[in-house]
Amino acid sequence: MSAIDGLPPLRDVIATHGLDAKKALGQNFLLDLNLTQKIARAAGLLNGVTVIEVGPGPGGLTRALLALDAGSVIAIERDARCLPALAEVGAHYPGRLRVIEGDALTHGYDDGIAGPVKIVANLPYNVGTQLLVNWLTVEPWPPAYQSLTLMFQREVAERIVARPGDSAYGRLGVLAGWRTEARIVFDVPPQAFTPPPKVTSSVVHLVPRADPVACEGPVLARVTQAAFGQRRKMLRQSLKALGGEELLTKAAIDPTRRAETLSIEEFCTLARLVASWNR
Ligand code: SAM
Repeated sequence: MSAIDGLPPLRDVIATHGLDAKKALGQNFLLDLNLTQKIARAAGLLNGVTVIEVGPGPGGLTRALLALDAGSVIAIERDARCLPALAEVGAHYPGRLRVIEGDALTHGYDDGIAGPVKIVANLPYNVGTQLLVNWLTVEPWPPAYQSLTLMFQREVAERIVARPGDSAYGRLGVLAGWRTEARIVFDVPPQAFTPPPKVTSSVVHLVPRADPVACEGPVLARVTQAAFGQRRKMLRQSLKALGGEELLTKAAIDPTRRAETLSIEEFCTLARLVASWNR
């Protein structure tokens, strides 16, 4: 029995339900409930909060969230093999866990939730970046969620918190910095996972800004994709298809600059111009 909730240890849960990890589903499980509690704590107070968790797997983080008094957890999992294990967690916390079987990229899971919402997840690496971009470009803003507390590969985490001039600065840093305050909370070594991935992971905490600079997320994503897609080139070249020199001059940005020198506000100015030209 585990100390946090009296349920069986995760190693036993995995053995009982035959949950050998599938690489294609990004399955690297956390079996240490002290560590999953540390991640849950990084999300701040959970009392009365509805937590959305993507990819609960055998339920290590889910159990930590519930043990730390999350009002309820809505967990969306693609692998049907995990559902019986999650049903046992649900039975232990009656009425507080709702499991949805499906793909978080395409399945709606946050309709009609009353009260505060936080998103907490040890994300599958193959879809983590796309999920983050979806959460950052959602409309209307401020979003329904109060915060995102997410595990990524360390290299992706560095891109999320990167600022102009950093070597990791790119599309993710612009999108995350535009609409949120993002920081790396702590690192998690490969040995903490079963099976261990090749690289270190990091937990990132993002809090939405109440009033970010105005611009359209999908257009900002397009502009940054083009600019950083050829990051060694001058902007007049990399942004040619979006208006090139004329666009940059209109935005009062020197066309010979490179993407990594532009502030988030300057990218927003470009995105607003591109959006207005396309109307
Ligand atoms: N939360 C568990 C933990 O911390 O041990 C498992 C994390 S594991 C890194 C990622 C989980 O996401 C797996 O359980 C996997 O089956 C699930 N998953 C993968 N792709 C998914 C998708 N598109 N939608 C929902 N869940 C997904």
